[in-house]
Order: sequence, then structure tokens, then C-alpha cells
Amino acid sequence: MKRVNQFDVRPRSEKEREVFKRWLDASASLWNETNYARRQNFLEDDKNVWDADTGSLEGKYKGVLSSSVVQQIIRKNSEAWRSFFSSNKYHAGKLDEKPSPPGYWGNEEDGRVLRTYVRNDQYTIEYGKRSRLEVPIGSELKDELGLNRNQRLRVEVAGDPKWSGEQNRLEIVYDELAETFRAFQPVTVDDSRLDSPLASEEAALDVGANNLVACTVSTGSQLLYEGRSLFEQFRETTERIAYYQSLLENQRESSKRIDRLYRKRTNRRDHAQDSLVRELVERLYDEGVSTLYVGDIKGVLSTHWSPHVNEKTHNFWAYRRFIDRLEDVCEEYGITVEGESEAWTSQECPKCGEREETIRQEDSLTCPCGFEGHADLVASESFLRQQNNAVRPMARPVYLKWNNNEWREHHNPPSVAVETTANEEYTDQSTTTSENIALGDSDD
Ligand SMILES: [Zn+2]
Repeated sequence: MKRVNQFDVRPRSEKEREVFKRWLDASASLWNETNYARRQNFLEDDKNVWDADTGSLEGKYKGVLSSSVVQQIIRKNSEAWRSFFSSNKYHAGKLDEKPSPPGYWGNEEDGRVLRTYVRNDQYTIEYGKRSRLEVPIGSELKDELGLNRNQRLRVEVAGDPKWSGEQNRLEIVYDELAETFRAFQPVTVDDSRLDSPLASEEAALDVGANNLVACTVSTGSQLLYEGRSLFEQFRETTERIAYYQSLLENQRESSKRIDRLYRKRTNRRDHAQDSLVRELVERLYDEGVSTLYVGDIKGVLSTHWSPHVNEKTHNFWAYRRFIDRLEDVCEEYGITVEGESEAWTSQECPKCGEREETIRQEDSLTCPCGFEGHADLVASESFLRQQNNAVRPMARPVYLKWNNNEWREHHNPPSVAVETTANEEYTDQSTTTSENIALGDSDD
């Protein structure tokens, strides 16, 4: 069984920090070059992605990254391509949308995602009064820091290891928003009690607009991840971008400030999304879930949502990215993700099965038979029941809210009355006022 320890990585000086950043940046650059070469080959009929010349890239990057890190990045990219090819085969004729080839780390708008991977036997973490991490860097960087050839870069780490066991490949990411380096250390935990052979529960997700994820587990548990404040922040940043854009003489241009806002917006969303996925999957794992149902992408983007809500989920919640992350993390925990049609689930009364006469209004679903419930939770429950007859009676839902750092449990459900007003605002983009923007111009 795999579990993940998370740490903050703290370089001890400005110089070390700068070197560390370059190390991650070169890793991202290597990933992108490797991926580009393979994508080029992929597009040619008579070429093969595995023939791309990664040897010359190795030569180019090992001075900064060290050979072992170079090999890890290329290997990680190979894994991504293999998984793309196998999902292509698997989904043939099943999904309406073909999976796309592995993507780049970052994009033109937001810049590169600073990230790297270190092989399991190439790093050490020591815990204690002064917890520290040692990683391999290339000779060029060693020279700059005055390290000798046999030394590795040593940095401080903060955070408690939740899990112990055999260490796997380490992932390090720079969180631009928090200006922090984070390390993720998967460990194989040797605990056969937790690794239950009875893990045969199932769960279903409803991915929504106001509530990012509603989930029902066959054990009777329900989870609701509330996304309103997160979306408010996203929208506020979007407004600020529009405002600064309007100040530019040539509106096709951008500025450093605008670029920074874009990056901030994306990083903030990604941070919340990644945390949500991990927090959710750990809970499902603890419940003994072995299969997780999600709506297939076409269904998700066409069903009950209005065009505005659709756009919101697309741009803001980045559904495709969300599913990719979910699949990755589920794989880590041995949970299978299945895409299924969730037709009708958002309109079906769980009590009497009525579909035509139910009324869905914002977060509530009401039925002439007298049933009233939370629309997204009901949808995830109906979705699960379509796949699995053995769903137990529902317990009280767990509500989770994002506090800009982690998802926290809240005792009270989100208020329906407030939601109605907030939701109307979403659909009216014209209410944007420059006054709000000027006042809201804090450095968040
Ligand atoms: Zn009913």
C-alpha cells in the first residue's frame, strides 16, 4: 500500500534557493523538450515516439540536473506516454473524446511548472531536530555552491512524516503562490491490516459548479466539497486581469503584472484541486473503496448545466486536469476509476424515482412526493445506485471547505438562501465594477 508524506523544503540561503529553483526549472524544461520531441514523432506516420533522441537531451541537462535526475524525468515521461497508449486502447469505442497525449509542464501563459523527480535510492531524508533532505544536483550547480563532486545538495525540511516504509520516487514542486518548495514522498507501507482484502466498496462523484465535488460511498458516507469562496477568488483575479488589461494601450499585449495574476490564479486553483483529490482519495481508501465512478466527460459538459455554469467549470475547475489528477492518485491507492454516463442522476428523486416532475433549484432538489435534498449529493447517490444496488442508508454528510491551505470539515451545510444570490452573480458578468477592483487590489 502506498501513502504519501508531504514536506516543505527550505533552502538555507538565497543562493541555495536560487540554485534549487534552477534545478527544478531545468527539470521542467527537460520534460518539455522530451515531450516535444516525442509529440513530433507521434504526429509523423512513419516515426515512433520511442525513437526521439533523448540521448542528446541527457548530455544537455546532466550538468545541471545530474544523470540520475535526467533519467528519472525521461522515464517519467515514458510512463506518461505508455499510459496514454494503453488508455487509448482501453477507451477505444468507449469514450466520445479521445485521451490526449502527455502535456507540457506549464504553458505560455503561466510559465513552466517547476517540478522534479528523484529516484528512490538517490535521495535521503533524515528526521529529527534538524530534518533534512539530500538530493543529487549536477556538477555545474555543485561548482556554484562550492560542493565537491561527491556531495549532494542538503536542504532543511519541515513537516512530520505521517507514514513510514520503503521510500519511492520523490516529487518536488515549487508552489509559486506560497513561494514554497514542497516534497511528496510516497512510501510503501507494510501494514497488511490496513491493506484490506475486503476492500470492495464503491463510490460515485458528482462534479459540480458551486460544490466542486459531491461524493457518495456505498457504505453510506457522503462528502461535499464546497467551492464557492474559491471561485470568488478566481473571479476576483479574473476581474483584476481584465482591469489591468484595459489600462494597456495595446490590448493584445500583456504585462508582467497581468502574467503574474494569471499564474497566481492557476496556481491557487491547482493547489486546492490537488489537495482535494488527495484528501478525497485518502478518505475513500479508508472506507475500503475499490471502484470510483465519475461522469464521462461529454456527459459532464452537457447535462443540466447552463452555458455559464459550464464555462465556469471548464475554465475555473479545469475538469480534464481534475480527472487526470484523480486517476493518478487513485492509481497510487489501487482504486479503479470508471467513467460512466450519469444521465438523469441530477433530476432523479432518490425516494420515488421521479425524473420529469422534480425541481432542481440551485443546491436543492424537490419532488412532488415530498422529498427534498441537496441536489449534488442526491445526484452522486443516484449515480452510485445506477451502478451498484448494495448502497447502505446514508449517514450525515461531511462538509468540507477550503481555507486556502487545506480542506477542513465544517459542521453546518452551506446555506441554500445565500447560494441563490451568489449564483445569480456568477451568471451576470456585466456586474463587474471597476470600483470593486480598485478597492479589492490587495496583494493576496
Ligand atoms: Zn419523489
